[in-house]
Amino acid sequence: MKNQKLHDKNIFEGIAASPGIAIGRVLLWDSEEYTISKQTVPENKIPLEITRFEEALIKTRTEILEIQRKISVEMGREHAEIFNAHLLVLEDRMLIEEVINKIKKERVNVEHAFVVVLRKYLNIFSKMDDEYLRERLVDIQDVGKRIIRNLLGKQKQGLLELNEKVIIVAANLSPSDTALMHKDKVVGFATDMGGRTSHTAILARSMEIPAVVGLKTLTPLVKNGDVIVIDGNSGTIILNPAKSVIVRYQKEKKKFLDLEKGLLRLKGLPAVTKDNHNVVVGANIEFPEELSSVLAHGAQGLGLYRTEYMYLNRSDLPTEEEHFQAYRKVAQSLKKDAVVIRTMDIGGDKFVSHLDIPNEMNPLMGRRAIRFCLARPDIFKTQLRGILRASVYGNLKIMYPMISGLGELRQANEILEEVKQELRKKKIPFNENIDVGIMIEVPSAALIADFLAKEVAFFSIGTNDLIQYALAVDRINEKIAYLYEPAHPAVLRLIKSIIDVGHTAGIWVGMCGEMASEPIFALVLLGLGLDEFSASAVAVPEIKKVIRSVTLVQAQQIADRVMQFSSATEIREYAQAQLRDLVENEKK
Ligand code: PEP
Ligand code: MG
Repeated sequence: MKNQKLHDKNIFEGIAASPGIAIGRVLLWDSEEYTISKQTVPENKIPLEITRFEEALIKTRTEILEIQRKISVEMGREHAEIFNAHLLVLEDRMLIEEVINKIKKERVNVEHAFVVVLRKYLNIFSKMDDEYLRERLVDIQDVGKRIIRNLLGKQKQGLLELNEKVIIVAANLSPSDTALMHKDKVVGFATDMGGRTSHTAILARSMEIPAVVGLKTLTPLVKNGDVIVIDGNSGTIILNPAKSVIVRYQKEKKKFLDLEKGLLRLKGLPAVTKDNHNVVVGANIEFPEELSSVLAHGAQGLGLYRTEYMYLNRSDLPTEEEHFQAYRKVAQSLKKDAVVIRTMDIGGDKFVSHLDIPNEMNPLMGRRAIRFCLARPDIFKTQLRGILRASVYGNLKIMYPMISGLGELRQANEILEEVKQELRKKKIPFNENIDVGIMIEVPSAALIADFLAKEVAFFSIGTNDLIQYALAVDRINEKIAYLYEPAHPAVLRLIKSIIDVGHTAGIWVGMCGEMASEPIFALVLLGLGLDEFSASAVAVPEIKKVIRSVTLVQAQQIADRVMQFSSATEIREYAQAQLRDLVENEKK
């Protein structure tokens, strides 16, 4: 990974998060800070201030209803319901009366009156004991900002409200913000924060939006409307480039798209080595909407469906029926190919404001994933029922995330058994033999993989988390991104040991962390015996190409050699050279 270097005052280097080239105008995201001054209003102008307030409320309401309508059309009605809470704030008579009284009594401008009352409300809500009410703070803040914007006559566009194509530049983007981006409007993004395996970066790859993250100090130097080039292949940003630079990048963009197109020719071919060793190259998804991309890139099933995205950007929980519909859809689309449904991995950098998840000092090591599910079996069971009911429509498998010991696995299985029992009683059909596997992404699980392997049908190595926990490097912190190294010999030892232990126990071992999407590691992983690669859909053709270019024996020799190196630098240099000699230079 590169640290930021300034070759030229307009060139910035960050972390290449999602491949491709984008050229466009900047929309600074969430950068507005309003200064509101207190003004005295003459008696005869007071009715005008009140009218301005009422008009701002009406305008805000119209905006929210329009966003709801768009979300409903583009993402489904349930996603739109998050804005019901915003509408309720707008109808709060107490808040409205208080603002009007303040204008009348103190003869002040509406902006000032509103901000004072809003602050009072935010203060009260932030001190509430009730978690649910405390969470409403975010809604009040959001609506409050909109009303102020409308009072001041300023425009702020939401990610779904954009009318023209833009490149988003932001200090940070949450996975929920990113999930709201529309590919037709947001053609690229750049953030100061973030690492390559942050969920925002992963999502950008799934959505095929070129992105660079970890730029550290870009936002303060950028204005709305600036022209910017995003080179998601190298992790470079060029601000207000010269015409000649734009022309060069337009050519670069065409070259990239042609290359992608060429790779798509491999789409229908199996992932088989020259000596007939078959592996599976599947895809990772966050939303069922990605299925068309999965099929277009020739993925052999899904090695990871990140179901937690179903819980984001809404104010209620997904119902059993929603779970069922989503899983049935993926099961049917992928036909006989395996679809690994990971039970929800909420927490870490994926927050759900309406769930009872208090802020934690260290959320990546907090009550996330299976820990949350075991604490809230009611929520967990709803999802399991949805998966089981959908299991008769295809080849579904269940996978638990963040398992750190046998106790958690057994507890999760007990809950699963209870759900199965309930379905049997109601005579609701499901696949009695559905495979249950686990992610190996916590070092403790890797170390006791032999015990775990006896009780599961498969392992899937979650390198995104495994690397962060094994190397003690926060995966979303750009300041230490240079230490986040999949090629660290310790990481490779862990991977080798997980695969060996899995095979000794007779189960298959896959990998759904981002390392499985990186061509540089494909030969090594193949040689170590990995059975399944689950990559972002866009990376599937290239991983297939690497696998199809060598024999298993060659890959094993490469893996043996790699395991002898003591540094990531040696490993990277050697793996890159092998990739170049055996794959890239191969006559097609
Ligand atoms: C992983 O940790 O490698 C993984 C695939 O899960 P996530 O990225 O969703 O944490
Ligand atoms: Mg993980």
